[in-house]
Amino acid sequence: MSYVVIKDIVKSFNGAPVLDSLSLTVNRGEMATLLGPSGCGKTTLLRCVAGLTPPDRGLISIDGKDITGLAPRQREVGMVFQAYALFPNMTVYHNIAFGLKMKRLAGKEMENRVRNMIELVDLAGKEHSYPAELSGGQQQRVALARSLVLEPKVLLLDEPLNALDAKIRKNLQAELRRIQKGLNITMIMVTHDQEEAFGISDTVYIINKGRVEQAGGPGEVYAAPASRFVAEFIGNYNVMAPDEFRRLVRAENLAGGGSFAVRPEVIKILPAGAVETFKAGGNGKDGWYVEGKIDNLTVKGNCLCYRVKCGDLLINVDQLNDRELRRFDGETPVKLWIPREECISLN
Ligand code: ATP
Repeated sequence: MSYVVIKDIVKSFNGAPVLDSLSLTVNRGEMATLLGPSGCGKTTLLRCVAGLTPPDRGLISIDGKDITGLAPRQREVGMVFQAYALFPNMTVYHNIAFGLKMKRLAGKEMENRVRNMIELVDLAGKEHSYPAELSGGQQQRVALARSLVLEPKVLLLDEPLNALDAKIRKNLQAELRRIQKGLNITMIMVTHDQEEAFGISDTVYIINKGRVEQAGGPGEVYAAPASRFVAEFIGNYNVMAPDEFRRLVRAENLAGGGSFAVRPEVIKILPAGAVETFKAGGNGKDGWYVEGKIDNLTVKGNCLCYRVKCGDLLINVDQLNDRELRRFDGETPVKLWIPREECISLN
């Protein structure tokens, strides 16, 4: 059974629709992420679940209980924001204990819960530090612990890792996932970073203009984007109009009236004269060979990101940055090999 049910939520601000009959469900113990461009309504949706923004219409329930009209504190929902919002004049220990004190919990039980939480978020030894004495990553751990200690049914996270630099962000992503799995807590996280969403979620919800455009596991959404919007938003897919694609592969009678999308890493670059060797090397798959010229090369770590000019189209091709493999430059005419089975027809 779905644990969090969001059904037909409508919200407008000053007559401008922001959530357009949005529905989604999240299972218990799941890490769900809301991914979408700036302004698509992600934060507004989280605020509706938290009770901070009343929806104009629709229903929200958690664990079978309708919470649509409840005050925030009656919802048993926690929220972590991008800005840590810690109490600057309280130590780590007291920041984490604050919510429990408000709930009139005291003594040994409170102390145990706070200490367990400090262990869990890896802040042992920092109990007596003040927020200003902590790094950004550590402050966000305190913010996380402060919400988790209250054992919310659902934890909402609004771009919690945004303020952190890349390396700390990566570490904390993994930590967040470990904690979420360890506690088996249901989390809904907003992000506009697709790598982050795909890296740590059970389910990704792609939001566009206040609606869910596609929902699914990260692998599923990545491999089979349901629309042109998703293909363009989640990565550097090559998306082409039907006539562009037919021109590229010189196949006039290709089925499908919508756009076509091909991931850059499934296309191969060959020296123009090497097609026969490539075929003889066991490439028996169905596909197209397309002439091109290297327009640009960007080296991103272990990936060589080529932009190849094929007629009037620019095609992105990613190859492994392996010393054994040959690099191509603008002088070399090349052939691209586009495998037919990897070409996705979009609506
Ligand atoms: P971002 O990734 O930039 O944070 P988002 O997807 O979280 O974007 P929201 O913050 O939900 O988007 O905002 C969606 C739209 O609603 C925006 O156009 C925003 O200006 C508008 N909006 C949000 N809150 C209010 C408000 N309280 N009053 C008026 N307009 C608002």
